[in-house]
Amino acid sequence: MIKLLCDQMLGTLAKWLRLLGYDTVYIDNDLPDEDIIELAKKENRIILTRDKNLVITAKRENLRTIEIKPVDLDEQIKSVIKKFGLEEKKILSRCSVCNAPIVKIDREKVKNLVPKKVFENNKEFWFCENCKKVYWMGTHWKNMKKRIEKL
Ligand SMILES: [Zn+2]
Repeated sequence: MIKLLCDQMLGTLAKWLRLLGYDTVYIDNDLPDEDIIELAKKENRIILTRDKNLVITAKRENLRTIEIKPVDLDEQIKSVIKKFGLEEKKILSRCSVCNAPIVKIDREKVKNLVPKKVFENNKEFWFCENCKKVYWMGTHWKNMKKRIEKL
């Protein structure tokens, strides 16, 4: 399975890639290029970046690196899907916040964790054991599906 690494400029893309099921590390700070390269090497990750210099340095180190040229998020997502494909069963398998796998959870167990209305309107819930975020197929999910279908 492919593993990705998004640098600081690609935070929104990283979130989306996780929701789509890609194992994605996001560097949320101004980490020096050498450290990014080190991390990518260690964890065998493909670097996604908008930074031309990083692309050059990483390629010199024989690391697989993709320069994300589009500014538009839809186009960015599209370019990644085109390269790596999309597995439908993997969608909504990772936490958008922390990249840990999320698991289906008993509805009763989230009763006190989500707003009452959300609980009443949804039958299925997922849970991130790492950061405790609860997921359901609400508006966010529907918008995302629409977005993917459009792509
Ligand atoms: Zn999480």
